[in-house]
Amino acid sequence: GLRVGDMTTVDQRYHALMMFTKVDRSRSLQDKFRVAMLSMVKHGRFLEGEVLVLHFVSDQASQELGQRMLQEFLQDASFEYEIFFHDVVELTHELFPIVEAMQKHFSAGSGAYYSDSIFFLSVAMHHIMPESLTRIVQLDLDLKYRTNIRDLFQEFDRFPPGAVMGIAREMQPVYRHTFWQYRKENPNTRVGEPPPDGLPGFNSGVMLLDLSSMRASALYNQLLKPDNVAKLADQYRFRGHLGDQDFFTMIGMEHPELFHSLACGWNRQLCTWWRDHGYGDVFQLYYRCDGPVYIYHGNCNSPIPDD
Ligand code: UDP
Ligand code: MN
Repeated sequence: GLRVGDMTTVDQRYHALMMFTKVDRSRSLQDKFRVAMLSMVKHGRFLEGEVLVLHFVSDQASQELGQRMLQEFLQDASFEYEIFFHDVVELTHELFPIVEAMQKHFSAGSGAYYSDSIFFLSVAMHHIMPESLTRIVQLDLDLKYRTNIRDLFQEFDRFPPGAVMGIAREMQPVYRHTFWQYRKENPNTRVGEPPPDGLPGFNSGVMLLDLSSMRASALYNQLLKPDNVAKLADQYRFRGHLGDQDFFTMIGMEHPELFHSLACGWNRQLCTWWRDHGYGDVFQLYYRCDGPVYIYHGNCNSPIPDD
């Protein structure tokens, strides 16, 4: 159960949330979780009075396994931490009415599945979590930390006015593909073009959600409304299946000021699927990431380097 109301007594809490479902059924996810948590613990440093609060969105069987695994992974932690498990069924119930209408634009198949709502948690987190929770980072399990996770939270202080979240760009030409029709009709567009001048879209593996700003932003909350989602999806000829990252990518084309761009090193994705599926000629323009790697993201089951 969640009691975020109690979470305001200590000086400074750093909240991080991970989706953690069906983990009991997947050895591969368990291995990824081990790499993520051990690397987070290895590099994690916090000040006196600071607490890292780890939130997991989970089912019963995954929670039981997760609690056992966390006991092992966190035993050498040099910092204080707290762990909260959120019931995926309860959160889905809260989310469904808010995100139902957008699911058909950004889900595989018809998008009608109730259970798919959870893939849009980040989109409506500001309505789901208690008001006392003002900032949270959402992290995939297939990550490897190479630096102190506390440094990631410092990025919140670099948000320009109007930004509601921090997110890194997508590092494959997937949105060059998704926006194919729009790009054909608008040959000079930056939509789907590679960095540094183009708009390659976002990846949802590492996200900073400024819940206070999300609640306060009239623009952001307008964009959540079904009619406006439909309008933009029609304008951009958008049909995706990647959930929240599709929604953020689409609204980011129209309103880039809502997003603080994280350096690519904060979410260094390693998947190369699109290189071998028709985009080999432009792949490196998207994949390239200069500068230090703070977090590796072994997306699409990509191996993560050992160093
Ligand atoms: N996830 C989960 N259970 C699953 C599959 C995924 O909890 O059965 C969560 C997990 O946090 C994972 C995230 O959803 O990191 C996104 O999935 P994944 O990282 O596999 O997608 P990719 O980054 O490869 O697109
Ligand atoms: Mn991932």
